[in-house]
Amino acid sequence: MSKTIKKIGVLTSGGDSPGMNAAIRSVVRTCAYHNIECVGIYRGYQGMIEGDFKEMGPRSVNNIVNKGGTILKSARSKEFMTVEGRKKAHENLVDAGIDALVVIGGDGSFTGAEVFNNEFGYPVMGIPGTIDNDIFGTSHTLGFDTALNTVVDCIDKIRDTASSHNRLFLVEVMGRDAGHIALNAGIGAGAEEILIPEEDLGLERLLESLRRSKASGKSSSIVVIAEGDKIGKNVFELKDYIEENFPEYDIRVSVLGHMQRGGSPSCYDRVLASRLGVKAVESILEGKSNFMVGIINDKVALTPLEQAIKGHSEIDRELLRVSDIMTT
Ligand code: ATP
Repeated sequence: MSKTIKKIGVLTSGGDSPGMNAAIRSVVRTCAYHNIECVGIYRGYQGMIEGDFKEMGPRSVNNIVNKGGTILKSARSKEFMTVEGRKKAHENLVDAGIDALVVIGGDGSFTGAEVFNNEFGYPVMGIPGTIDNDIFGTSHTLGFDTALNTVVDCIDKIRDTASSHNRLFLVEVMGRDAGHIALNAGIGAGAEEILIPEEDLGLERLLESLRRSKASGKSSSIVVIAEGDKIGKNVFELKDYIEENFPEYDIRVSVLGHMQRGGSPSCYDRVLASRLGVKAVESILEGKSNFMVGIINDKVALTPLEQAIKGHSEIDRELLRVSDIMTT
């Protein structure tokens, strides 16, 4: 028989993403709705080790649904990777009377939560927060939709200058291991070519595609490149390579960088965060633990943390085909 849950802790860990605040708000208010206490844990697992806790009520999360970043701050904690660090964190939770934990973060944070659960039998529930959308068990992670809108907005602006000067723009977007941002935003912004880690287009095919596009009458082009693209060159080396082979092109590089992680969350991310927060708390109250809450077939669903960590979030092959057709 599992222990009655009277107090839940919530933290944000790893890279921040838009929608984390809306998820914190949802967790806090769902606790209040069910008459249980909620404690905010600052700076992720590091704050857990240092006992950096603050009681939170429904009014302490006013006016944050629209804010990017995370009011609880995020951190990466080396100490939590050690047994001693986790032991200290566990003692702090027990001392504060916190019975279960909601972890908002990426797969590294989930790994930490799973290890913690295995060691202490402590109830944990994960909410996927990362702009990369690279987590198995959910069609969307918090911040992905907002990042897509940011990238599309930037590329729309780049397109204005690209077409005015007949330039080729190489736009690097985030995604070290996953091309979800590049593929979706590339289609949305009408890119001529999209380079992602999951597909090795190859340099020759890229040049061929640019040649075709020029021959078909396009005077400017935009190529979207995920930072982890396996073409074997970084975006600046790629520029040099294309220039050597294609001297007639005037090429510019734009690395969008951290702006993709910031900004006010989109409506989609706010609604997603609200749904996942409710499900996380209510699942804990039903005695469930060691799951991630996500969206599968438009419904909120639970996936065991182990699967969420080990599973691979596949690129959508249909989107690849759509992208090929759109660049005709
Ligand atoms: P992002 O997607 O932005 O990288 P993330 O959650 O994957 O987010 P990580 O830096 O990988 O970010 O992990 C966040 C924290 O989780 C780490 O700093 C560490 O404290 C904890 N963590 C990760 N892996 C483990 C592990 N194997 N054991 C214990 N704790 C871990």
